[in-house]
Amino acid sequence: MSPRPDLGPKPVLGYTDSRIERAAERRTDETAIKAFAARPDAGAYVIGVEMIVMKAGAPVNEPLFTLQEAHTLGPAVEMVFLGLLDGAPRFGVGLTRDTAEALKARDGFHVNDLRSIAVQGLVAPEHLPPIAEAKAILHWHARHRFCSNCGTATHVVQAGWRRDCPQCNAQHFPRTDPVVIMLAVDGERCLLGRSPRFLPAMWSCLAGFVEPGEAIEDAVRRETLEEAGIACGRVSYFRSQPWPFPMSLMIGCHAEALTSKVVVDRDELEDARWFSKDEASAMLQRHHPDGLTTPPPFAIAHHIIRAWLDGETDLG
Ligand SMILES: [Zn+2]
Repeated sequence: MSPRPDLGPKPVLGYTDSRIERAAERRTDETAIKAFAARPDAGAYVIGVEMIVMKAGAPVNEPLFTLQEAHTLGPAVEMVFLGLLDGAPRFGVGLTRDTAEALKARDGFHVNDLRSIAVQGLVAPEHLPPIAEAKAILHWHARHRFCSNCGTATHVVQAGWRRDCPQCNAQHFPRTDPVVIMLAVDGERCLLGRSPRFLPAMWSCLAGFVEPGEAIEDAVRRETLEEAGIACGRVSYFRSQPWPFPMSLMIGCHAEALTSKVVVDRDELEDARWFSKDEASAMLQRHHPDGLTTPPPFAIAHHIIRAWLDGETDLG
């Protein structure tokens, strides 16, 4: 066994550790929400579907507008109460894609997608969790305007956290889609795959949606078997990450591989294979001789691989 490499300080996992207090008990209090919106310290993140609107700045842009400023940028499609930051109200304001795109041409604005913002560090890190919160729930509103029970147009209640149907009285709550993302390990090697959608030379953990009626552990085993032909035994939970593309929750796990012959599902993956600790370590640190990499430090896959290299899995 090679000595454990020094991988340096652990990076921050993106979109986590939000400082926003969601203050869910205030959502039903329309008077309080109106009063929050009228306050001069009310701030808003402004989002046009996939695009985040920011005030251009250096070295980072400023994604937080006053709520008053946000309303001057264009007609709001939706507004949700995100919570309180040190007592100051925070909102998410949704614009149409066209309105956000048009702001690109205006001086003083920077409009970009959230992936680019996270990868390139275009805003201060503390803004990523509330932007993720706002983006995910605004996306849910955009795709759930009609009652899934009877087809009638629904209306927003609870400061953006529920939609009610006036026809059949059904209440609709925001959804989060659980996704398992896992590293199957076989002693001193781990299983990584490549999706055709990945950047060239990037390899990552396998991942897939948890299906209805399925436990996390079973989803980990099923996806690993389906995508790479590897059967897994023990599964241990690592940590999770909100993934607002558009509204998932990544559930990070390690899994004990019971078999070793990789059979790649070419409909899902471009390739999958075993990687040694030395190779995975070089990829994580961006000095693999062939230029192979893992996902960037803000992504949970990076942390799942790192925890295994650090000997911090619960698989024993
Ligand atoms: Zn209905």
